[in-house]
Amino acid sequence: METPDGAVYTYGDLEGLSGAYARLLSGLGVAAGDRVAVQVEKSPQAVFLYLACMRLGAVYLPLNTAYRREEISYFLADAEPRVVVVAPERQAEVNGLIAGGRWCVRHVLTLAGNGDGSLAEQSGAAEPGYPIAPSTADDLAALLYTSGTTGRSKGAMLTHGNLGSNALMLHRLWGWRPGDVMLHALPLFHTHGLFVAINCVLLNGSGMLFLPRFDAADVVRLLPRATVFMGVPTFYTRLLDSPELTEEACRNMRLFTCGSAPLPERTFEDFRQRTGHRILERYGMTETGMNTSNPLDGERIAGTVGLPLPGVEVRIADGEGHPVTQGETGMLEVRGPNVFKGYWRMPEKTADEVRPDGFFITGDLARVDEKGYVSIVGRGKDLIISGGFNVYPKEVELAIDGLDGVEESAVIGIPHKDFGEAVTAVVKRASGRGGVTEKAVITALKEKMAAYKVPKAVHFVEELPRNSMGKVQKNQLREQFGDSQR
Ligand code: AMP
Repeated sequence: METPDGAVYTYGDLEGLSGAYARLLSGLGVAAGDRVAVQVEKSPQAVFLYLACMRLGAVYLPLNTAYRREEISYFLADAEPRVVVVAPERQAEVNGLIAGGRWCVRHVLTLAGNGDGSLAEQSGAAEPGYPIAPSTADDLAALLYTSGTTGRSKGAMLTHGNLGSNALMLHRLWGWRPGDVMLHALPLFHTHGLFVAINCVLLNGSGMLFLPRFDAADVVRLLPRATVFMGVPTFYTRLLDSPELTEEACRNMRLFTCGSAPLPERTFEDFRQRTGHRILERYGMTETGMNTSNPLDGERIAGTVGLPLPGVEVRIADGEGHPVTQGETGMLEVRGPNVFKGYWRMPEKTADEVRPDGFFITGDLARVDEKGYVSIVGRGKDLIISGGFNVYPKEVELAIDGLDGVEESAVIGIPHKDFGEAVTAVVKRASGRGGVTEKAVITALKEKMAAYKVPKAVHFVEELPRNSMGKVQKNQLREQFGDSQR
């Protein structure tokens, strides 16, 4: 593993340092099943800490660095970690949080710093290596809180069996081979950067160019030294903005994958034209790891998330869990060794979302074509019901995105006195391609689709709001434009 400041860690270092961290944590009383909450900036030390927890059979609980005091307080109270590891500037705040409360947090540590008694510093004096506690496939390995745009955030309990089965499958399916080098630019607090990326690298014994965050210039500069890159859609749109992204820059690359949010077909096509690479889109979520993937060899179809992974069953169902007719849109449900054990201390929520036959209700609406390729139509909660008709936002977004002068769009439903909900579009104009207007969008769409699907209003924004994984934050748009119906 190599960082931009020139630090290099070998697999020997990884073994020694993760062992030293495990020894230190064990000395603080961390044992199998204990949670270790971690809110730190991305660094190689964070990878060692993740592995230290795996060695101990402890439960790794990564937290988004964007979370603030209130949110942290909720996670600590809910997960009851024994140890919390935070950035140095957060240590006093978290110590303050737990002081005097009924907390089972015993220690608040920092990870890496200079001369501050952090885990990394102490590990220098600790004996390297540590025995690996045996874990069964059913034992908890990690607790990942869902982004929770509605209601309280839920802790998804992931087992060693979940992580192991998914990593082994992706490693095989995506053809990992000797000599592969991963260019890693994703955050480490989310399933994508942590499990999909890191576990494949570790299984393969691969090298990794490790960036602290995504930066298009850094990625383009390092691409010639890499063979595999994993991104969210915004990474790809930003890379395309860089004139240095060329076929030559990608000469050693064999695989670009994309997920966590829908990859626009236009981005897929622009990337193919520029680099000669067809981005491999796949689909997964916190609770399940990866579920489907476009094939390594064979047709990668833009706008689809590919085929179910071997061993993972996908069914498109109606509200009762009965399969719908092939080709129809319904709720995507999955079953397999990748599906989580349930929500932490929320048995009723788990029972609501897992059917008695073991299928997990993903909350995503999807359909399957005759070749078995899955297309995600949108989140179920984003479905718009206007005048009693179902409107799938994705269908309207695709039509708007195809119009001249449009960069991208998001379609939401907002309360309306006659229709219940009114289809509303929020559009980012394409720079330098004329000023598309509300009237132009509505007129063009009336030609293409039934009137009930055509937006009643079109708003223009500089940027669509996205979270760090590139997902458009539709709840924010609903708040912003919720009163705008005329
Ligand atoms: P998270 O639990 O944060 O990983 O979010 C999972 C959700 O992201 C899924 O339920 C989907 O709604 C969405 N998602 C992930 N990958 C894709 C994809 N390739 N296309 C469309 N949506 C995706």
